[in-house]
Amino acid sequence: MPFISLGLLPALARAAAERGYSVPTPIQTQAVPAILAGRDVRGMAQTGSGKTAAYALPVLQALSSGAQESPRRVRALILVPTRELAAQVGESLRSLAQHLPRPPKIAVAFGGVSINPQMMALRGGADVMVATPGRLLDLIGHNALRLSSVAMLVLDEADRLLDLGFAEELARLVDLLPQPRQNLLFSATFPAAIETLADALLRDPVRIEI
Ligand code: AMP
Repeated sequence: MPFISLGLLPALARAAAERGYSVPTPIQTQAVPAILAGRDVRGMAQTGSGKTAAYALPVLQALSSGAQESPRRVRALILVPTRELAAQVGESLRSLAQHLPRPPKIAVAFGGVSINPQMMALRGGADVMVATPGRLLDLIGHNALRLSSVAMLVLDEADRLLDLGFAEELARLVDLLPQPRQNLLFSATFPAAIETLADALLRDPVRIEI
């Protein structure tokens, strides 16, 4: 079954094909229609399952139909545990968005490097923010962005976010987000702390286990 039959725009299906994705993976087959329908998702999936595109494609589609304000306001927030994953998710989003008539602006931020270039990159705003939690809080503290327009939240590798000690930062960030909001949580494992987080964050989620 091709990507287009999951309900994706031709521009997104074409970009997926150009990345060499001819057939959706199981998590993509299940998550894409649910996310396009506006549902919250609780996804158990390992790295290598294709989970990044499973949320990236429908997030890009949702953003493509909304009004683009000036300056741009962050409407989709993707929280990841590490700098490597932040860079990889940002690259996937940019590549998958390339054929959209009005590609969203995608910003990526992570700790361990100077904050100034990341602040400069946020001038004029961004539509999608991919970030590690600590650096995102730093950027908010510097008034480099606001989260008051976020309509979609993705927690990617949620188990690693908690393993790396980001629980407090996550709670602070979630407190800054408006409602209503679509929430997507992906994790390779679901120990008790992730179950608690998922229960607190997700509203009647579609459960996907790969
Ligand atoms: P991920 O689980 O998101 O880290 O993706 C694992 C790898 O699979 C990445 O190299 C992706 O580019 C690739 N990938 C994702 N979706 C597909 C697909 N439908 N067909 C082939 N490769 C894919």
